[in-house]
Amino acid sequence: MSNAILVIGGGIIGMLTARELALAGARVTLIERGETGRESSWAGGGIISPLFPWRYLDSITMLASWSQAHYPQLCEQLAHDTGIDPEFTPNGMLMVADDEIETALAWADRHARHMEAVDRNTFHTLEPAAAHPPMRGLWMPEVGQLRNPRLAQSLHADLVQRGVEIRERLPVTGIQVRNALCRGIETPQGILEADQVVVCAGAWSGKLLGDLTMAPAIRPVRGQMLLFKTPPGTISRIVLEDQRYIIPRRDGHVLFGASMEEVGFDKTPTAGMREELLALVRERFPVMRQYPLVKHWAGLRPGSPAGVPYISQHPEIKGLFINAGQFRNGVVLAPASARLAADLLLGRAPVLDPTPYGWLTARG
Ligand SMILES: Cc1cc2nc3c(=O)[nH]c(=O)nc-3n(C[C@H](O)[C@H](O)[C@H](O)COP(=O)(O)OP(=O)(O)OC[C@H]3O[C@@H](n4cnc5c(N)ncnc54)[C@H](O)[C@@H]3O)c2cc1C
Repeated sequence: MSNAILVIGGGIIGMLTARELALAGARVTLIERGETGRESSWAGGGIISPLFPWRYLDSITMLASWSQAHYPQLCEQLAHDTGIDPEFTPNGMLMVADDEIETALAWADRHARHMEAVDRNTFHTLEPAAAHPPMRGLWMPEVGQLRNPRLAQSLHADLVQRGVEIRERLPVTGIQVRNALCRGIETPQGILEADQVVVCAGAWSGKLLGDLTMAPAIRPVRGQMLLFKTPPGTISRIVLEDQRYIIPRRDGHVLFGASMEEVGFDKTPTAGMREELLALVRERFPVMRQYPLVKHWAGLRPGSPAGVPYISQHPEIKGLFINAGQFRNGVVLAPASARLAADLLLGRAPVLDPTPYGWLTARG
């Protein structure tokens, strides 16, 4: 009989972790406080690249590169198996990066990423809607994006098909530990026993494990996003400038975001940020003045000290694992994080060196 494994949290990280475990034949139950895929994983932009990727530690590049290589096939498989297409679209990312161009090109060379410096004309040709193309910008033609709410829906359907039990509207209130061994979890419906527990509770992971020794340093970081509906093709590329970006979906939906706010567990969108983002998108992309705002929302990213996730067993509690803290990059890092977490839980040879994501290392 295989081990019984409980996955806590039904975001993209928890669902992909459950999928990896189910693929290996484990008995998996996923516990979600609300509904799956409705928190950060729903709120995000779905860019399959860290923003300004050269600014990150190699440990993040390692996870991102592995995921980028696997995303197109994963999305195809999910679309085929569930009928819900996450719409992975490799329409490339343009970046305004001024004095970092040489550093970025050297990084791309070192990591074998396709990146080009482009002049103003080329930038304009690639994205005619940008009102202020820089003298020199950067272009990564292979960067893709996907519709994260659809990825979440297809993952949910896939897990059901694979026999994973999904228990929604069930908050986990504590971890059962005896003699340095994790025995299961506490919920309002009683204790659920398991051989292994993996915490994938996003921004709430630090809170959930707050009573244990060496609680992970994971905190919520709010991000606000705007959504517009335009005719398809109004915006062609992901364009990134400072901390703001525009993302065009295939059907003409356009996202613009995102703020970075340390306001605790408050995910209320604010009028002030809405106005700031609206003014900016209309100034940078004047064509957007024609289209009304459709939606404005906020989500809570799982912030970690250097953006490096915890993918590890607790150093003192056998059977208690974590896969959380992907911060701004939880969608792009998810397939690699999930695969690595499953390798550790199942005692397989890890697909990547797990050292940087160790419980103590990731705490910074
Ligand atoms: C505005 C914005 C834009 C973003 N853009 C991008 C992007 O373009 N690319 C990218 O890669 N990343 C992006 N991100 C980051 C990315 O969305 C997150 O890193 C990722 O979704 C984290 O996934 P998760 O599964 O860890 O967390 P979540 O999706 O938040 O899932 C955690 C789940 O755990 C559940 N949970 C919490 N506590 C408990 C409990 N006690 N019991 C049971 N269940 C519990 C929650 O209800 C939730 O469903 C963005 C984020 C935001 C907010």
